[in-house]
Amino acid sequence: MSTSDTTTDSQNRPPELLKATNVKKHFPLEEGLLDRLFGENRSVRAVDGVDLTVRAGETVGIVGESGSGKSTLGRTVSRLYEPTDGSIVFDNEHIETYSGRQLRPIRRRVQYVFQDPMSALNPRKTVGESVARPLTVHDIASGPEKWERVADLFEEVGLSASQMGAYPHELSGGQRQRVGLCRALVTEPDLVIFDEPVSALDVTLQAQILNLINRLQRDFDLSYLFISHDLNVVRQVCDRIAVMYAGEIVERGPTTDIFENPQHPYTRSLLDAIPQVGSGKRGDSEPLRGEPPSATNPPSGCRFHPRCPEFIDGRCAGEAPSLQSVDGDDSDHEAACHWLDRSAAERASHTPPSRSEREIIQESSSDAD
Ligand code: ADP
Ligand code: MG
Repeated sequence: MSTSDTTTDSQNRPPELLKATNVKKHFPLEEGLLDRLFGENRSVRAVDGVDLTVRAGETVGIVGESGSGKSTLGRTVSRLYEPTDGSIVFDNEHIETYSGRQLRPIRRRVQYVFQDPMSALNPRKTVGESVARPLTVHDIASGPEKWERVADLFEEVGLSASQMGAYPHELSGGQRQRVGLCRALVTEPDLVIFDEPVSALDVTLQAQILNLINRLQRDFDLSYLFISHDLNVVRQVCDRIAVMYAGEIVERGPTTDIFENPQHPYTRSLLDAIPQVGSGKRGDSEPLRGEPPSATNPPSGCRFHPRCPEFIDGRCAGEAPSLQSVDGDDSDHEAACHWLDRSAAERASHTPPSRSEREIIQESSSDAD
């Protein structure tokens, strides 16, 4: 979480390694006959106008429920996917329109670690061979040097060099995830994108792997984008967190601000849903109700309004709030909620709509699906 880089901006922050602006990724829907007849052009708006910055040496977390667009965002900003719109700058290079050959050096410098490390390992090859392969593909090393590098990495992540000869099915889940880390680090990347890297592991193993991930960052000067649905997990590794809901970022800021002073009702519901959270817990908010919205036809105005315990009649359904600074906090703490415009007194005296009112709201908005 520290960096050796000496180029900082006016606020003494490390340089931006990745900067995505207004990024969108829409997937075309399989069109039915009626859609074709009536000329409707519908799509899944998985990521719908996101700004995201990762500075050198830092870890930025993306959290949100399943289906909120986290994986699509990670894959789009790293150009595994082609963006539908927006700009993506990696180390001062615009990469949003890059293709094929232009992306090759980016593939080497940006690596992925997935929930299931088996997806990156060939079941018929030894794990050593799988880890060594990118060295050949990217022309980085060959011969004895190649195997030396792989052996060093195995030891770095707490495996033994003799385990290079094992096949994936011979290893435990935790060992495989360590191999997954070797596979990602072997090309000496600048940015590693973790997509739910510990979600398949039990809590003890999670802690071990998260510690390892933190140590590797310091040892190799890495920047991380860390995707997880689990706030307890992101808390252990992230400097800053962005909360995603229905393809948009609804709140972002330094990890402590998100936990100690959450502003968006969605962030508060997520925090309330996790056990033993410290002072960020507001005992008065209700658990999150209802289902995540349709990504094809998201609710009008604030996309969270049908589920929001603090719904303000009219405004929330009619007008989409944009991210704005949270008073009194670090200027990097922003939330997109109409309540931020209200005075503290007004907020304190606000009575959320009753359950039945909300059910009506919810029903009327799901009719639109
Ligand atoms: P998360 O990682 O937060 O669970 P995803 O990015 O996987 O969310 O998915 C966001 C939305 O985009 C979901 O509605 C999902 O069904 C849809 N989606 C993801 N990938 C594709 C795809 N390749 N084609 C069509 N829809 C997709
Ligand atoms: Mg995902």
